[in-house]
Amino acid sequence: MSALLALKKLHVAYGHVQAVKGIDLELHAGQITALVGANGAGKSTTLLGISGLVKASGGSILFDGDELLSLAPHHIVQKGIVQVAEGRAILGTLTVQENLDLGAYTRSDKAQIATDLEWVFSLFPVLKNRANGLAGNLSGGEQQMLAIGRALMARPKILLLDEPSMGLAPLMVQEIFRIIKHINQTGLSILLVEQNVKQALKIAERAYVLENGEIVLQDSGANLLNNSKVIAAYLGT
Ligand code: ATP
Repeated sequence: MSALLALKKLHVAYGHVQAVKGIDLELHAGQITALVGANGAGKSTTLLGISGLVKASGGSILFDGDELLSLAPHHIVQKGIVQVAEGRAILGTLTVQENLDLGAYTRSDKAQIATDLEWVFSLFPVLKNRANGLAGNLSGGEQQMLAIGRALMARPKILLLDEPSMGLAPLMVQEIFRIIKHINQTGLSILLVEQNVKQALKIAERAYVLENGEIVLQDSGANLLNNSKVIAAYLGT
């Protein structure tokens, strides 16, 4: 099976700081691939490199066989790769509805946009109830739902999720992981960056462990959950 997204020897740097040092990673259609690791390992930078927000300095990013490396971020969104940034980045002074509308800004298919909005509201009923309220008044978990909902409004083929569980209360963490799995089961491919290694590995078909900008382990999520190095370094028992 060929990969929907394939990183080959990908390098991403901030000036002289090499944050991602030649990684290979594959995401297959319809699957969740997790990228886990400690603070500063290079997980966010990998996503930023894929979405073009930080220009990769070397290697290759193939999406459905097409090279993304030289494309501008908005072209990458148009191709169907949409990132939900760490810290959510919703616009607090706009309403929930206006934030969702922004997600569809590259689209002109009005009827399908309306259908997608209903789908997002069915995934997140709280957003429908609060549609006319300011996004800044939502709780942290609700803001994460809005950020995911806004990304879905771009009709992505791949969703890049950066630490969706960060800063959320335990029950909300469970809810967010349940929703991620549910969205994936509708056919959407997901690249999930997480520090919550246990939950991420539980829902990922394939997973990679990143340390200091390099992939040090890769396997199925289930196998990595039982890997002694992963247990010792990330699962705390
Ligand atoms: P976290 O969970 O803390 O976000 P991460 O695994 O996502 O960790 P990155 O944010 O990708 O890690 O950071 C990788 C490396 O790049 C770190 O050494 C970090 O200090 C550095 N870095 C990140 N952003 C910048 C930047 N804008 N300028 C310079 N260095 C940066």
